[in-house]
Amino acid sequence: MSRTIYLSPPDVGPLEESYVLAALRSGWVAPVGPDLDAFERDVAERVGTRGAVAVSSGTAALHLALLGVGVGPGDVVVVPTLTFVATANAVRYTGARPVFVDCDPRTGNLDVDLVAQLLRRLRAHGHRVGAVVPVDMFGSCADYAALLPVCAEAEVPVVEDAAEALGSSHGGRPAGSFGRIGAFSFNGNKIMTTSGGGMLVSDDLTLLARARHLATQAREPTPHYEHRDVGYNYRLSNLLAALGRAQLVRLDGMIARRRQLRDHYAKLFAPAPGVELIGAEDAGSNCWLTCVRVDSDRSGWRATELAAHLAARNIETRPVWKPMHRQPVYAGAESVLTGAADALFTDGLALPSGSALNEGQIGRVLGAIDEFLTARAGAPTA
Ligand SMILES: *Cc1c(COP(=O)(O)O)cnc(C)c1O
Repeated sequence: MSRTIYLSPPDVGPLEESYVLAALRSGWVAPVGPDLDAFERDVAERVGTRGAVAVSSGTAALHLALLGVGVGPGDVVVVPTLTFVATANAVRYTGARPVFVDCDPRTGNLDVDLVAQLLRRLRAHGHRVGAVVPVDMFGSCADYAALLPVCAEAEVPVVEDAAEALGSSHGGRPAGSFGRIGAFSFNGNKIMTTSGGGMLVSDDLTLLARARHLATQAREPTPHYEHRDVGYNYRLSNLLAALGRAQLVRLDGMIARRRQLRDHYAKLFAPAPGVELIGAEDAGSNCWLTCVRVDSDRSGWRATELAAHLAARNIETRPVWKPMHRQPVYAGAESVLTGAADALFTDGLALPSGSALNEGQIGRVLGAIDEFLTARAGAPTA
């Protein structure tokens, strides 16, 4: 049987090897060092923010970002229901409570009208809203042109979960730079990886200094170990930062590869009735994951059937995020729903999108989908 083609595996090669080896040989293995400082500078420059703080995961970045804007026990935080669980968990770590909001059915991003209504209602009921946390879904920026004025009007800080969106932009402005503070992830399946890591970006250097302090056990600058706050062990190591610097050099090339793949998928599915790419019209997306949405009334087949066809050929796919309001851990949380996220969960499918896929592997994936579509085009619709 042919080797498994994964959804979004790490894309590393000789450049990463040379950067990591150089860091190892420099003696700056851990915890901090010149690669860590340089990685922060490079990411801040890329995103156009005044500063950045490298941490051990995107989840840690979100946690520190929320603490930074003052979220705490008793607060309500507005979170999309369609997201990875880390967005909601970070809210819970602070003692605040997430309220889940449904999405735009075409992009999977936060439904801004619902956010506006919810903020008015929460305020009318006397709740303190600590933050709104938009997620840039699959690499497509949320609708900031609409969302930012709504949050400014309600005087609620925006914490941007840009975990999936490094290298993306919206109206010419880089992802990560839209809120008071933004969070990236360098997990192994993201657009680029440090094998595990994350980054905070912001123009507010005081906020970042506080986050850096909390990320290093809140150790005071004294010869002995002195602590006034409960801190965390959240700092990224110098060795992993070296890996990140190499990945950042290759980021534009990796984004171009993913976009090429998306273009292939767009062409392949264009003649198929009822199939659309989620967030297809976003030219600023980094194309982290290409996901299709299948309207089975029109297509005559379901997303799960395509998934099974590909799985039988050792090609990995995955449903889009299972909405938070459906997660047992968040049962009973307050939600504002239209059914859009539920529909995307039922009808959506993430396709192999990795930048390391070679031409042979891409041919295998496209050929297998083509075979499925040809068979279904001939079959009577059930
Ligand atoms: C991956 C991801 C995270 C978490 O990042 P980790 O580095 O895995 O902790 C948070 N939010 C979203 C939307 C993600 O996709």
